[in-house]
Amino acid sequence: MSTYPARAVVDLAAIRHNVRTLGERAPGAAVMAVVKADAYGHGLVPSARAALAGGATWLGVAQATEALALRAAGVGPDDARVLTWLHVPGVDFAALLEADVDVSVAAPWAVDDVVAAARATGRTARVHLKVDTGLGRNGVMAEDVDSVLPALLKAEAEGTVRLVGLWSHLALADEPDHPSVRAQRVVFDDVLEHAERAGARLEVRHLANSAATLTAPELHYDLVRPGLAVYGMSPVPQLASPGDLGLVPAMTLEADLATVKRVRAGQGVSYAHLYTTTQDTALGIVPLGYADGIPRHASGGSAGPGGPVLVGPDDAARVVRIAGRVCMDQVVLDLGPDTTERAGDTVRLFGVDEPLLGGGTAPTAQDWADAADTISYEITTRLGSRIPRVHVDTEDRVSRAENA
Ligand SMILES: *Cc1c(COP(=O)(O)O)cnc(C)c1O
Repeated sequence: MSTYPARAVVDLAAIRHNVRTLGERAPGAAVMAVVKADAYGHGLVPSARAALAGGATWLGVAQATEALALRAAGVGPDDARVLTWLHVPGVDFAALLEADVDVSVAAPWAVDDVVAAARATGRTARVHLKVDTGLGRNGVMAEDVDSVLPALLKAEAEGTVRLVGLWSHLALADEPDHPSVRAQRVVFDDVLEHAERAGARLEVRHLANSAATLTAPELHYDLVRPGLAVYGMSPVPQLASPGDLGLVPAMTLEADLATVKRVRAGQGVSYAHLYTTTQDTALGIVPLGYADGIPRHASGGSAGPGGPVLVGPDDAARVVRIAGRVCMDQVVLDLGPDTTERAGDTVRLFGVDEPLLGGGTAPTAQDWADAADTISYEITTRLGSRIPRVHVDTEDRVSRAENA
C-alpha cells in the first residue's frame, strides 16, 4: 500500500456486483458501463475490467483519449465494444477506427470527418447517431436528423460507415415521473421509426442512464448506459439509497490523522475562524483538502455543519463534522474532549452506507454532496490525482452490504 496519508479504496467486487445488478434490472438489454472521467474517479482500467467481469459488454467514454487508453491497456475488441461520444473537429477518428472503437456522430461536420478517416484507414466506421430529443445539449436536433442521416446512409452504401446505433440522453431521468421523460421517449421513437424507414438497420438503440436503467424499463431498448450506479451510488437519492437499489458503493475515501492536539474553549479554527471551539477539546488534522477535491463548500461553521467524517474504532465509531474552512491540503475535525484518537489513526470521509453500532449510518458520497450542495457524481469524479486509488477485491464486504 502507498505511504500517502490518504487513499480512495475502490472495491472491484462492488463494481462487478453493481453491474450484475444493473444487468438483472434490464434483462432485455446489453449493458454499457460508462467509465468516462477515470471511471467517475475510481480508476479507468481496473474499473472497466471489473465492469466487464460483471457482465457489461460495452464501455462508454466521453473522450477519444479515454477510449484509446482502454485499448492501449489491453481491453481489446473481443473484451468490449467501446463507444466514445464527445468530439470536436480535428479529433483523430482514424486512431479510433484503427483501435476498433465505435464513434458517435452528433453534428454534420463529424460525418465528413468520419468518412475521411474510414477512407484513410480502409476501415469501416461503426457510427452511433446522437439525437437531441429534448436535453438541449450535444446531439443533432430531432427535426434536423436529415442534415446527417442521408449522408450516413450514403456512406454506408459505399462501405465507409456502418450505422450501428441511434441514441439520445435524458434531461430529467432522476425525476422518473417528469413529463419531459415521456416526451423525450416519444421523440426518440419517432426518430427511430423515421431512420428505419429511411433504411437504417440499427444494431443498438439506447437512451437510458443509471436512473432510467433502474426506474424506467420502457426506456431500456437494446442497450443501457449506466455510469453512477456502476460505482454504487444512487442516481435518485431523493427516492432510494444505494442499499434500496441493491447497489454497493465501491469507493471508500480515508485519511490518516496528521495531528491530534488539545486546545482551549474559544479557539478559532482554520482560515477566517468560521468555527470556534465551545469547550476545551481536541482537534484532529486530516491531510485532504480542496486540492484533493474536498469541496470548500463543505466547510463547517456558524453557517452550517461541514462534511461528515467517521472516526473511532469499529465498535465505537461516530460521525464528526468538518470544523471551519476546508483548506487546500487539509481540514480540521473537532474530536471532542474525550476522544481517544491519535495521530496516525485512520478516519473515513465516505464509503458504504452501513449502520453504526452506536446508531446512525456511516457517511456516504451522497452525504458529502448534501453538505456541499452538489451531487454525488461530483464528489467522486473531482477527487484529485494526488490521492492514490487502491484497488481491492472483497466479495465478503459486498455480501455484508447486501445482507445489511
Ligand atoms: C455520463 C453519461 C451517461 C451515464 O450517466 P449516469 O447518470 O452516470 O448513469 C450516459 N450517457 C451519456 C451520454 C453520458 O454522458
